[in-house]
Amino acid sequence: LINSTVIDKEMIKDVCDGIIKQISREYMIECEKNREFPTKLWNAMVEGGLLQLGFSEEYGGIGGGLTEQVYSLDLLSSAGLGPVVVTPNGLARIPILKYGTEEQKQKYLRATTTGDIKFAFMITEPNAGTNAMKMESLAVRQPNGDYKLNGQKIFISGFDHSDYSLLVCRTTAYKDVKDRREGLSLFIINSKSPGIEAYPQNIALPLAEKQFTVYFNDVIIPKENLIGEEGKGIRYLFDGLNPERLFAAAHNVGNAEFLLNKAVAYAKERAPFDQPIGSYQSIQHPLAYVKAHIEATRGMIYKACELFDQGKAREAAMYSNISKLLAADVFREAADITAQVHGGYALDEDYDIAYFIIASRGSGIAPANNQLILNYIGEHVLGLPKSY
Ligand SMILES: Cc1cc2nc3c(=O)[nH]c(=O)nc-3n(C[C@H](O)[C@H](O)[C@H](O)COP(=O)(O)OP(=O)(O)OC[C@H]3O[C@@H](n4cnc5c(N)ncnc54)[C@H](O)[C@@H]3O)c2cc1C
Repeated sequence: LINSTVIDKEMIKDVCDGIIKQISREYMIECEKNREFPTKLWNAMVEGGLLQLGFSEEYGGIGGGLTEQVYSLDLLSSAGLGPVVVTPNGLARIPILKYGTEEQKQKYLRATTTGDIKFAFMITEPNAGTNAMKMESLAVRQPNGDYKLNGQKIFISGFDHSDYSLLVCRTTAYKDVKDRREGLSLFIINSKSPGIEAYPQNIALPLAEKQFTVYFNDVIIPKENLIGEEGKGIRYLFDGLNPERLFAAAHNVGNAEFLLNKAVAYAKERAPFDQPIGSYQSIQHPLAYVKAHIEATRGMIYKACELFDQGKAREAAMYSNISKLLAADVFREAADITAQVHGGYALDEDYDIAYFIIASRGSGIAPANNQLILNYIGEHVLGLPKSY
C-alpha cells in the first residue's frame, strides 16, 4: 500500500510490481475470453492504493496527480494487465473534483478511492458519436427541481459493474440552441435508477469489460446530482477529456511495450534457418522502430501530465491529444510486427496475440478517434479552417 503524502515513482513501481506478481496475464485472458470484469485486479489496485492517487486526504486520497495515475496504468498495461474501466472511472472523477459541491465530493469521490463505487461514463448516442454535441437524450427540469430523463446511450463500457455514471445529456434540445455547445449538462446518475434498461452489445473486442446500450425511460435525477450549473456541462467535461486521452494513451503505450517484449523474446529464439529471426533486419528494424516510438510517445505523455499537474490544462491539451494519437499508432505498429514475428502462431489464440491485433485497431477509434485528434491539432494548434 502506498502510504505517504509524498508519492514518488519508486513507490508506485513497487506497488505495481506486487500486483503484477500476484495477478497473472492468464487471469486477464480468462476475464477477456469470458467478458468478465477483472475483479481480482481491481481489488488489488484498491488495496495497493492506486485509486487514491490524484486526490488529497480530505477526499480519501493520498496525493499525487495525473502523472502518478498514468504511470501506474502504464506499468500495469506493460504487463498485459490494463484495466479499461480505469478510463471512464478516472474521467468521471475529474469534473466532480473540479466543479462538484462539497457534498458531492465527500459522497462520491471518497467512495471511488476505496473502490466501494465505480463510475461509468455516458456520452455516446447512436446519432452522436464523434459529433457528441448533437445528442438527443434530454433531462427536463420538473416543478420540484429534479430532472426527468429520456433517451438512449450506446457503447457504455462497464455499465453492468458501475454504481454511478457520469452522464452528459441535453437540458435544452439541440434544435433550440444557437450554439451546439449550449444546453448540455453533467449529472451524476445512479446506474440502478428505476427507468434504466441496459443491454450488452455484441462487441468483437475481447475486453474484460462489456459495452452496453442504455435506455432511459422517465428516469428521475435528483436536483442535487447536477454538477455545476445547468447548461454549462460541456465546459466542465472538457477538463476531464485530456486526462481521458492520457489514460487511454498510457494503456495503449503499455500494450505496445507488452507486445514488443513478447516479439523480441520470440525473435531471439525462433530460427527457421538456424539463425534467430531477430538477426534479420526485416524483423529487427521494425522492432527497433517500435521501441523508439514507444519512448517518444512516453515522453509526450509525461510532458502532458506534468503540465496538467502544474495547472496548465490549456497548454497540456496539445500534448494530451498528440499522446493519444501516437499511442494508438504505436500500439497498432507493435501489434502488426508482433504478429509478423510470430508467423502462423500469431493466430493461435494460445500465443495471446490475436486479441491485441483487434484491440490495437480499436485504439484508433475509441475513446476518441484519431481523426478527431487530428482535427484538434489542425484547427487549434495550426489554426487551419474547420471543414465539417
Ligand atoms: C470498445 C469501445 C468502448 C467505448 N466506451 C465508451 C464509453 O464508455 N462511453 C461512451 O460514451 N462512449 C464509448 N465508446 C464510444 C466511442 O467513444 C465512439 O465510438 C467514438 O467516439 C466514435 O463515434 P462513432 O462510433 O459514432 O463514429 P462516427 O461519429 O460515426 O464516426 C465514424 C468515423 O468517421 C470519421 N469521422 C467522423 N467525424 C469526423 C470528422 N469531423 N473529421 C474527420 N473524420 C471524422 C472517423 O474516422 C470515425 O472513426 C466506446 C466505443 C468502443 C468501440
